[in-house]
Amino acid sequence: MKHDHGDECGSTACTKRLSALREPIDAIDRQIVAQLQERARLVLQIGAFKREHGLEGRDPERENEILHKLGDACEGPLEASHVREIYTAILRTSLGIQEAAADRSLRVKQRNRPGNGSVRVGSVIIGGSAPVMFVGPCSIESPEQMERIAPAVARLPGPKILRGGAFKPRTSPYAFQGLRHAGLDILHQTATRHGLASVTEVLDVATLDAVAASADMLQVGARNMYNTELLKALGRQGKPVLLKRGFMSTLEELMLAAEYILAEGNDAVVLCERGIRTFERATRNTLDISAVPLLKNETGLPVIVDLSHALGRRDILVPCARAALAAGADGLMVEVHDQPEQALSDGFQQIDLAELERLGLALGLGGTAAVMTGATP
Ligand code: PEP
Ligand code: MN
Repeated sequence: MKHDHGDECGSTACTKRLSALREPIDAIDRQIVAQLQERARLVLQIGAFKREHGLEGRDPERENEILHKLGDACEGPLEASHVREIYTAILRTSLGIQEAAADRSLRVKQRNRPGNGSVRVGSVIIGGSAPVMFVGPCSIESPEQMERIAPAVARLPGPKILRGGAFKPRTSPYAFQGLRHAGLDILHQTATRHGLASVTEVLDVATLDAVAASADMLQVGARNMYNTELLKALGRQGKPVLLKRGFMSTLEELMLAAEYILAEGNDAVVLCERGIRTFERATRNTLDISAVPLLKNETGLPVIVDLSHALGRRDILVPCARAALAAGADGLMVEVHDQPEQALSDGFQQIDLAELERLGLALGLGGTAAVMTGATP
């Protein structure tokens, strides 16, 4: 076939002509992309400015204005609707890069924190070379009970922290609610007597000062992970915080909960995976092992695993503990009671003192050999 420019279709001359027509298109595309890059740089600057000044990231009014102005100015061959379509994509992409930059700028995602990714509680370093055991009863029940348990905790090789609930967030209002202030005193006295650091849950802002005066580390329980006023108050005080994952929370939500604490100036936050609710009934919750490396990769904060509340059973504690440590956990929480069957809360999942000793041996605490080889002594 012959074209009106005289070249045979498919001939070398035809191909040459097409290339000549395309050449300026390639040059225009390069210019458009260069301009889009310049636009993206400005978009990121604007995003940073808005963050700095606490302004809302998205401005739908401004987006509409851009779309209308550009559409109205169209002279063809592109119609207003075509230009708006192209710009809708550009605006969506711009918002995407702004949001990604905002996410990267979160404090929880920074790695240049004091302590280099570790948190100190008394003389214990969480996120150091050895895993830290958070051990003690679900609830503090009496001075005698704590006095029977604490020596076994102190005897565990390696770093450890004595746990015990004074203010208990129970599902039923008729269940044991904890010894409250009296429990705090018992924890403080027992921990001091045995040279142990202590951690206990703080339920609300009203009791925060009392809890902070008695314990070395303050725990936010799974039910309270979304209590933003409590998180902010914890950020304004100086004690380290153990932040548990809510049982229906995504990792992003857990990280943003940590951000509340960090944003108020408290960098000493340890994250805790404690199982999430799924359809599975064999365990109390489903232990999400992937949370450990994901949180460590994304945040640089220490991450521990609460085996007791995740599993709600004792028989698979050792293999799950090994899995948690193999995944990079900086510590493990285990509930321990001298007489689990008599416990006022969570008796079914607490281990006794002999089992605690065996767990320490099985995990090779104080030395890493058994963990590395998976060997059972
Ligand atoms: C606890 O550790 O005492 C506790 C209540 O755990 P969680 O908040 O994870 O249920
Ligand atoms: Mn418990």
